[in-house]
Amino acid sequence: MKLSSREQIENLSKFKSDSFLTTSFYLKTDKSRMTKKEIALSSKNLLSNGRSQLDQMEMSKDKKESMSQDLEKITNFCSKHLSSHNFSGLAIFSCSGQEFWELFNLPTSPLNRIIFDQNPYIRPLSAILDQHHRIFALTFDRREAKWYDIFMGEISLLENLIEDVPSKVREGGWEGYESKRIERHIATHLHDYFKKITQKTFELFKKNHFDWLFLGCREKYRSDFEPLIHPYLKARLKGWLKTMPSDSPTAVLKESLGLEKKLKKREEDEIVHRLVSELEKGGLATSGLKRTLRSLNRGEVQTLITTRDFSKPGRICPKCSFLFVDELRCPSCKRKTNPLVDVIDEAVEAALNKNCQVRHIIPPSKLDRFGKIGAFLRYKASI
Ligand SMILES: [Zn+2]
Repeated sequence: MKLSSREQIENLSKFKSDSFLTTSFYLKTDKSRMTKKEIALSSKNLLSNGRSQLDQMEMSKDKKESMSQDLEKITNFCSKHLSSHNFSGLAIFSCSGQEFWELFNLPTSPLNRIIFDQNPYIRPLSAILDQHHRIFALTFDRREAKWYDIFMGEISLLENLIEDVPSKVREGGWEGYESKRIERHIATHLHDYFKKITQKTFELFKKNHFDWLFLGCREKYRSDFEPLIHPYLKARLKGWLKTMPSDSPTAVLKESLGLEKKLKKREEDEIVHRLVSELEKGGLATSGLKRTLRSLNRGEVQTLITTRDFSKPGRICPKCSFLFVDELRCPSCKRKTNPLVDVIDEAVEAALNKNCQVRHIIPPSKLDRFGKIGAFLRYKASI
């Protein structure tokens, strides 16, 4: 299925098997950057890495058998379907012992990797989702208005309206009083048409909820149009497009994605900047892996902020599910902790389960100087 919502990831993260491990497989399949041959080769390499990892693992025969079947199923899938796969990435989660198999087509390339773990390795999915906003692109001129929905790199036309407001009094055709009267009439017509557009936009917003609104119209209409927009929508108005209703959806999509990328970068810079200034004044924030995990374990985290694709091994307490960089025994319950392939992935998962927000920052950023990870806190427990 196509990755398109937070619920899909939440559902996936609920899967857990007590008797078997889950195989998570991520593959870059961006045909605009790689040939089919290169994609097939990298999938082959990745799977053979997985096989040698598996050979070295010490565990029960049943567990190994389940994972070996996972690899076989993934190999079969890739040899049959990779050449016709038309997305930038592919993610497969398999736990054969439990007959679990879930496949996602990804709009953005992930890092190639294969991971055997207690549950599905979901962080790359959450990072991809985090990169995308639901955008409404509205383009209009005097003749018509078009509303588009843009999400995860795809565009669809929601609605269009044809009005055809005459542009102006024909030159030389009208004089004096009559000409002024007609001009006023046209201005009112245009105003009503703009109102109709903003009302329609609000109706569509109530039905489809979007994060950002982009508007495409001639510059001269902006000052008349903007005051008519509902305050809810005004807060979401993030930019202006050059594309017009006569332009193709592809052109609208291209310009919108370019704008989204720029805005996203600015937003990330702002978050990191806020975090750094909170840290510097000793406020409600923390940074560095060790301290961030401690705050997460204590339930202090409000927003977890991590560098995209940053990963580190760590440990987890089997009883409290507390996460650590290197504690061999849980300081809280004194049990022996278990090793983790990627403690940051677990941290993201723990944060999502605790209803914290998670932000993935594309490197390089100022966060690099603070251990690549940090958090805004709800409160700070006294030590
Ligand atoms: Zn514990």
